[in-house]
Amino acid sequence: MKYLIVANWKMNPESPLKAKLLFNSIKKGIKKIQPKKTKIVLAPPFVYLPLFGRSFENLSLCAQNCFWEQKGAFTGEISPLMLKNLGVEYVILGHSERRKYFQEKKIGQKMKACFKINLKPILCVGEKEKGKIQILKKQLDFLKKNSNFKSHFLLAYEPVWAIGTGKYCQPKKIKKIVQILREILAKINQDFRKIKILYGGSVNSQNAFSILKEGQIEGLLIGKASLKAKEFLKIVKIAEKIS
Ligand code: PEP
Repeated sequence: MKYLIVANWKMNPESPLKAKLLFNSIKKGIKKIQPKKTKIVLAPPFVYLPLFGRSFENLSLCAQNCFWEQKGAFTGEISPLMLKNLGVEYVILGHSERRKYFQEKKIGQKMKACFKINLKPILCVGEKEKGKIQILKKQLDFLKKNSNFKSHFLLAYEPVWAIGTGKYCQPKKIKKIVQILREILAKINQDFRKIKILYGGSVNSQNAFSILKEGQIEGLLIGKASLKAKEFLKIVKIAEKIS
């Protein structure tokens, strides 16, 4: 599989009916496109996951977060095991909105809990201010303590200044930063060279081609543009056409 296109619905839409409509339109579109190079991953809010059945061939389910224990007295939390039992395949971890509003911690422990039951984490990193990319190394520092981790996770480079702002990182810059991320990862663990790196931050059907092609990345994490089936499917078609 060449590209992974991840739809992060965040806390949208506001009703199960709307969620089902969006899901069905995307599913129908994917059946028409019959992607060969692209895997589509949908990350709806937890409560909608059971409405969508299990992950299948080209369409996988993803959660937007999880807890670090599998069960027990942790009111309000959702465990990796619960997600696995629902047919979920991926979990987004360390999204900048979670870092900002929930002071997200213990990402390493969450990853460990995911690995135990073969859930694949999509670890998000990104600088708050344009150009201040030194923070990326710090955000990946916790992996040193866990250098026995397998390379069964994905990394999403998501500059915070680009998320939901309509301003995206220029593809040439993405390429450079991804190179830096690969070097940081390889220094921690040679096996981490194999990790797929995605880009996220104001991706739409207008910029997806250049981001994927010139940015030389292996996928996209899409927020706003994933809430409109037509726009999202356009991006899937673009990914399919890139040779
Ligand atoms: C995101 O939330 O991960 C994201 C990339 O959002 P948007 O596409 O809306 O910038």
